[in-house]
Amino acid sequence: MATNEELFARAQRVIPGGVNSPVRAFRAVGGTPRFISRAQGPYMWDAEGRRYIDYIGSWGPMILGHGHPAVLQAVQEAAAEGFSFGAPTEREIELAEAIIGLVPSVEQVRLVSSGTEAGMSTIRLARGATGRSKIVKFEGCYHGHADALLVKAGSGLATFGFPTSAGVPPEVVQHTLVLEYNNVAQLEQAFATHGPQIACVMIEPIAGNMNFVRAGVPFMKRLRELCTQHGALLAFDEVMTGFRVALGGAQSVYARLIPGFKPDMSVFGKVIGGGMPLAAFGSTKDIMSQLAPLGPVYQAGTLSGNPVATACGLATLKEISKPGFFEALSARTRSLVEGLAGAARHAGIPLVGDSEGGMFGFFFSAELPPNYGVVMGTDKERFNRFFHGMLERGVYLAPALYEAGFVSAAHTADDIAATVAAAAATLAAEAARAPGGG
Ligand SMILES: *Cc1c(COP(=O)(O)O)cnc(C)c1O
Repeated sequence: MATNEELFARAQRVIPGGVNSPVRAFRAVGGTPRFISRAQGPYMWDAEGRRYIDYIGSWGPMILGHGHPAVLQAVQEAAAEGFSFGAPTEREIELAEAIIGLVPSVEQVRLVSSGTEAGMSTIRLARGATGRSKIVKFEGCYHGHADALLVKAGSGLATFGFPTSAGVPPEVVQHTLVLEYNNVAQLEQAFATHGPQIACVMIEPIAGNMNFVRAGVPFMKRLRELCTQHGALLAFDEVMTGFRVALGGAQSVYARLIPGFKPDMSVFGKVIGGGMPLAAFGSTKDIMSQLAPLGPVYQAGTLSGNPVATACGLATLKEISKPGFFEALSARTRSLVEGLAGAARHAGIPLVGDSEGGMFGFFFSAELPPNYGVVMGTDKERFNRFFHGMLERGVYLAPALYEAGFVSAAHTADDIAATVAAAAATLAAEAARAPGGG
């Protein structure tokens, strides 16, 4: 039996950094990534046979836990009928109907294979539909790795961004404006300066790529007003929050708080594929009709609407649409966050957490951070020690302080209790460290 260490060494010989997506490499927290051999329900087992309670859930998709019997059956049946046809199928219609049925702002969707593709296509469609070039994003929000979105804020508000990745020429991000999350004054100034040129504002309504940060209600309300006033499209990136924080996504959460609220465009992924490569973007019929073959905005995909992936997504949506599903998931997730906060209080360590539906976050600080800068200013060394303490005790949390966590319907009250006990032991050890020991 190969150890994690041996597999990591072998992987690094043939795969850059040994991983196919950077965060898996544990660079932020240090140490050796666990090579997962199988998963079932809320658990994953690594190559050495060690079991972990999984709070990543493939970064969100596994909302039912791993290997849910109804989903597994749907996938097996679909696979037996054929892997891919490159021709339309009835299942694509069913999935589109299911998404539209759950998200009132969406009248039509196009299916793709990854959140990156969906986000990139949304930007192109927004530009094509408005005839404008500029886009706005917020620092700390991730919308996939399309070139125009790999950008950080410039030195002043009037300046556009700088690429965050080599290989992205500055010209490619010259139309991308990056603003601070939850900063109403900056938003107003940006619209005052660039309003008539802004095609769309893309936002993670509850950001899960800077841990867990909610857009405040006044901020969201003002964002909606400004977009409408200036003819810019408001694009909700719900790749993480869609069918995860509520059945209707984060937009249903804000619609409860802001009467009549809805975004113009929506981006989905993760849960809608149930663990298979599937994502989608949607909007009104009017805007979606700008897409090829009806309109001038080109967009395509060999594996888009894949029959096995759509079967997996449909079976997943069916399970999470059952009455009481989100009430139970929300309560379980809240009990985890409350348990972590209680363990920290007992140890005398500042920790604050938040959750919505099956998505959560926690910070080693006294108050919930409003934006990326504040998130990154929380105690990273303490987070890293906590991460490793939990991993050693069989709890698999996201390996970076800027990532959200996920609870599935398969996590039982006993799993939560075991997690909180692990946290209590880890935080007691943390409290016993010499002050200033770093
Ligand atoms: C994961 C994620 C993406 C990218 O999706 P991929 O399927 O990894 O390409 C985009 N936006 C958000 C909010 C995400 O969390």
